[in-house]
Amino acid sequence: MKEKLVIIGGGITGLSAAYIAAKQGVEVTVLEANSDFGGLLNTFEIAGSRLEYFYHHFFTHDAEIMWLIKELGLERELIFKNSSMGVFRDGKIFDFNKPSDLLKFSPISLFDKLKFGLSSLYLGKIADWKAYEKVTALHWLRKWAGTTTTQSLWEPLLDIKFGPYASEIPLAWMVGRMRQRMSSREKGDEKLGYLRGSLYVLLKALINALKSMDVRLLREHPVKHVEIEKDTIKKVVVEGGTSFKADKFLFTVPTNLLSKWFEKEAAGLSSFLGKTEYFGAVCVILEMNKKLSDTYWLNVADAGFPFGGVIEHTNFISPRNYRGKHIAYLSRYFAMKETLAKMDKKAIEALMLPHLKKIYPHFTMKQIENIYVFKTNTAATVCDLNFSQKVPFCKTEINGLYIANMNHIYPDERSTNNSIRVAAKACKAMGFSDVKVPENASLSGQIGFSIE
Ligand SMILES: Cc1cc2nc3c(=O)[nH]c(=O)nc-3n(C[C@H](O)[C@H](O)[C@H](O)COP(=O)(O)OP(=O)(O)OC[C@H]3O[C@@H](n4cnc5c(N)ncnc54)[C@H](O)[C@@H]3O)c2cc1C
Repeated sequence: MKEKLVIIGGGITGLSAAYIAAKQGVEVTVLEANSDFGGLLNTFEIAGSRLEYFYHHFFTHDAEIMWLIKELGLERELIFKNSSMGVFRDGKIFDFNKPSDLLKFSPISLFDKLKFGLSSLYLGKIADWKAYEKVTALHWLRKWAGTTTTQSLWEPLLDIKFGPYASEIPLAWMVGRMRQRMSSREKGDEKLGYLRGSLYVLLKALINALKSMDVRLLREHPVKHVEIEKDTIKKVVVEGGTSFKADKFLFTVPTNLLSKWFEKEAAGLSSFLGKTEYFGAVCVILEMNKKLSDTYWLNVADAGFPFGGVIEHTNFISPRNYRGKHIAYLSRYFAMKETLAKMDKKAIEALMLPHLKKIYPHFTMKQIENIYVFKTNTAATVCDLNFSQKVPFCKTEINGLYIANMNHIYPDERSTNNSIRVAAKACKAMGFSDVKVPENASLSGQIGFSIE
């Protein structure tokens, strides 16, 4: 008889795990709460094409996603292109593409530029993240990159990414981040990847492949509770009361949900999981008849802006793919205690749009044709000092109960690629030994998988 696996959560972690397990002859059911599979990778229709709710690109060293793309026969849709980066500081846009651009960055002195270059090289190429879990990134950067550099570049960037948690982020996370960004550079230029037609193309092909292997894909099946008896998980129950039994259950949903589900019957596991906090993200997407600039990715490092990044998608993927329209994301991460977490879409638009003119003086509201706003409360885990101690074992103390989610990405930056890595590790931990997903630069899936 085939082994039965129920996967809870149909984002890329759940779907990749379903793919790997089904290829090994496991009978898989995926339970997804929403009307679409894909979680944070979901897309919508815009200007005759599809686009991610949240900007997405890949890196040249992302071996795991390349593997999946190849498995699904999508190599011809994958493109890698040079990207253009900038920093808005002291009321000006500075290019930040080549090492020589650093020389033109006037907010910091020549000596500080040298310290910035050397400390960045150390973090991206030499440092071992394990040595830096107990020290905050800002503390280390003030010392080694200099106070002015930290104030003008690193503080605003961490603030944008982590809001009120910026000062708690360990240097270990920064090591993962710098390593990722530096490995995708060739001769100083950074190449980024994208799938023609958006991640919709990947999700569609993955879902078709799962269907062809008879994986049961059940959308609008939100799990409401979990039944555990004598340290063994018996079933999960979805809204409406239908229950699902299996030999193994893999939970890929955010940790804060799990903590609630296990409260009664696995109190120890529940309180351990309850230590992980998430923060949210909002993207305001502008469909325009004119571009804002020539930069793909602009980090806004001046104080007083309600968004931290302007990502002009059509400076990366040509507007020809979008009936000539120009598309830009205004992005901001937020803590759940910030007012942004409670604001509705109209209020967020009204908060963000007036600030665009400060960066792009020629900008007028007339160039906007449509606005779309997408928000999530589980954009990333708050990885604070010693976060490795908050990462649960994938194989838990409850028989048959496995967890693989964003916790396991640490110390790396969460990404599609790293989710596939974690899914592959989870399949191994569940005993599906023939996992052929290649490993490259990903630091994910190193913690929580030692009992295999
Ligand atoms: C703003 C932003 C920008 C990003 N940029 C990039 C990028 O450039 N490149 C990149 O590679 N990655 C990027 N990412 C990260 C990437 O999207 C995530 O790492 C990845 O999608 C996480 O997948 P997941 O399956 O682990 O989680 P999720 O996508 O969160 O999936 C979890 C799934 O569980 C489902 N679920 C929740 N509750 C229940 C329930 N009760 N029952 C059943 N199902 C449930 C959810 O609906 C969801 O589908 C970005 C993310 C954000 C937010």
